[in-house]
Amino acid sequence: MIARPMRNHLGDSAGREAVIGYWPNAAIGLVRNAGEQWLASPESPSKPGQEAMARQITDWLCLGLAPSCARQPRARQHRLQHRTCQNQRRNRHDRTRRPPLGRSPNSTARDTTVPNTAVGKTSAPAAAGSSSGTPAPVVDVAALGELLLGKWAETRRASRALAGRPELHKTEGLTHTEHRQRAFGQLRILVENGAVHRAFPVSVGGADEHGGNVAGFQELVIADPSLQIKAGVQWGLFGSAVNHLGTAEHHEKWLPGIMSLDIPGCFAMTETGHGSDVASIATTATYDPATEEFVVHTPFRAAWKDYIGNAAVDGLAAVVFAQLVTQGVNHGVHAFYMDLRDPGTKEFLPGIGGEDDGVKGGLNGIDNGRLHFTHVRIPRTNLLNRYGNVDADGSYSSPSPARAAASSRCSAPWSRAACRSTAPPSPRRSWP
Ligand SMILES: Cc1cc2nc3c(=O)[nH]c(=O)nc-3n(C[C@H](O)[C@H](O)[C@H](O)COP(=O)(O)OP(=O)(O)OC[C@H]3O[C@@H](n4cnc5c(N)ncnc54)[C@H](O)[C@@H]3O)c2cc1C
Repeated sequence: MIARPMRNHLGDSAGREAVIGYWPNAAIGLVRNAGEQWLASPESPSKPGQEAMARQITDWLCLGLAPSCARQPRARQHRLQHRTCQNQRRNRHDRTRRPPLGRSPNSTARDTTVPNTAVGKTSAPAAAGSSSGTPAPVVDVAALGELLLGKWAETRRASRALAGRPELHKTEGLTHTEHRQRAFGQLRILVENGAVHRAFPVSVGGADEHGGNVAGFQELVIADPSLQIKAGVQWGLFGSAVNHLGTAEHHEKWLPGIMSLDIPGCFAMTETGHGSDVASIATTATYDPATEEFVVHTPFRAAWKDYIGNAAVDGLAAVVFAQLVTQGVNHGVHAFYMDLRDPGTKEFLPGIGGEDDGVKGGLNGIDNGRLHFTHVRIPRTNLLNRYGNVDADGSYSSPSPARAAASSRCSAPWSRAACRSTAPPSPRRSWP
């Protein structure tokens, strides 16, 4: 659909095949971006009409490099681009002599008009006849739009409608404190509109619909990227960690509060000295069978949790990733549910501290912060134990063949010393 007009316009240009091969993918992204921006922008006299937008998209699809043509002096243009610009000019000239959009010389308006379900109107497809004998490109904008909406079209439309509401839009000029407060309030609007529960289990009021959840989430970025990512932290990271790493007991206990935003929370994995290399994180959770508790501890500065969304202000709880140590053996990184702040005072609980990451280069509606733990005790059952469990006596077990194999290697007397790790790994970097 897209390559054919491209082929016609490029003729025998150098690199023609490479451009044709590349262009369909690029064009889909371009059309999608342009369409989304157009749909999201408020009605105003300066907003292009649907037909003008269709014409513009047709130009882009057929001419590829066109947006830069007008700005670049001819002498500096690559040969291919120069040729394309010439085509663009000819195309513009032709259009003044063409029948209206969507009509081939022999067609009528009636037989070329298609419903545009993406915007709830009807429109003519952006086709044009050419008096130069070159077959005119025909792009059915409505059909292309529908195609790009994909499997989760209804969810995307609902999410776009929500993102179009002014109370969810970014307000320029806010301080980061004000932006954070606004983003937090916006999360409540998402909850009230059932926009963020799709991925959670049916048993707690969700829909177990993961694809739809991702599709709906994607669309929220149009309103304000901070709103989208703060929602991603709350429900996509924190909530999903409880959902996917926890078991039914954890779901019942915490997911309702997470879904309703009564428990704003964090996904506390990254450490100042341990980012991509998650296996090296140095926070430990050491099991104490005497009290049936894990003792969560930050052994040095580079093991502070860092850049954690919701940690600076809003987070009442967190899923904390730490090296699980029981019976003197380190079983690797596991996830633990921890309360962070007193819900009444919003003060950190004993043994927990942190800092605000402050103003960032972007996403300032999210309160990223640092966390550290000094021998904080949590119940054994706070281990999100879907893939690894510690019994009351401290025995470790895992349904995962890889984890079980690693654990049995660690339990073998000949290799126990190699796996023993009550001391934290050495820091990757030195920090003040
Ligand atoms: C705005 C923001 C919000 C965040 N929110 C959270 C959050 O809520 N929870 C959380 O846990 N974390 C969060 N993070 C942390 C984020 O997950 C880390 O920044 C990320 O994992 C990268 O770690 P790093 O910054 O230490 O970079 P590093 O891991 O040090 O990487 C530095 C550079 O080295 C490259 N690199 C790293 N390893 C390799 C390799 N093996 N081979 C080749 N190249 C490599 C990387 O691509 C990168 O370019 C957030 C970060 C930001 C910026």
